[in-house]
Amino acid sequence: MNCFLCPRKCGIDRDNKNGFCSQKNVLKIANYSLHEWEEPCISYKKGSGAIFFSGCSLKCVYCQNYEISTLNVGQEITVNQLADIFKELDEKADNINLVNPTHFSSLIYEAVKIYKPKNPIIYNTHGYELESEIEKVSKFVDIFLTDLKYYSKELSLKYSQVPNYFEVASKALNKMLLLKPNKFDNGKMLQGVIVRHLILPNCYQDSKKILEYLSKHHKDITLSLMSQYIPCGKASEFNEINRKITQDEYDKIIEYAIKLGLDGYMQEISSADTCFIPKFSNKVI
Ligand code: SF4
Repeated sequence: MNCFLCPRKCGIDRDNKNGFCSQKNVLKIANYSLHEWEEPCISYKKGSGAIFFSGCSLKCVYCQNYEISTLNVGQEITVNQLADIFKELDEKADNINLVNPTHFSSLIYEAVKIYKPKNPIIYNTHGYELESEIEKVSKFVDIFLTDLKYYSKELSLKYSQVPNYFEVASKALNKMLLLKPNKFDNGKMLQGVIVRHLILPNCYQDSKKILEYLSKHHKDITLSLMSQYIPCGKASEFNEINRKITQDEYDKIIEYAIKLGLDGYMQEISSADTCFIPKFSNKVI
């Protein structure tokens, strides 16, 4: 079946070949486990039940999960096995956190039909999504945990091989906000949207533009400003992003967000540590 699930629309027949996302039409995961380092309303009390899918339709050069997004580490599993994982995590965790699910969304929906978790399902995405797919997955997704990475076309082309990231991601974000207004129960997010912005080194002006856009169009959005950037993957080929961000860079962005009246979550700069990157494996089950 020719695949048009993501804005790449590469049209590859994934029954026979890998798409740009590096995946065929078979589920593949590299880790599933409890995560305690997500935003407090997501990790909540028991932790978030994260499932890491192999492959990615965006493929950022600096990806923290490069081993799975690009190097294709992971184990192929069936839809029934994914449903079993949902059940296991549903008993242990406060939600089911699908990281990054875009290229497997149809197969994930099949698994949800077999076992529908009692806890919220999180669609943890890079943000480069089709509005039509967001509408489709909203049938089974409760929370969109989405990135808004770049404003500049030059940066998105250079680091993620797409010139239209902001144009596409901002439309997808509008759709998410329309479909899933925030709902909390005693500090636990049950439904809604959180926008994550990962601060990159030497990209202060671009981060400012993202914050200005959010402040102008989505003033009440739940924002998560992330300082956890570590140069991974091919980042060493790009001098300007081949380091962690500095405290000064982070402070300037936080100050600017506050000045614009934005509210949400801020990370400690100490979160930029490889110890927070999950251990991926070809043998998960
Ligand atoms: S999900 Fe993969 S195969 Fe499908 S259009 Fe996107 S990159 Fe291509």
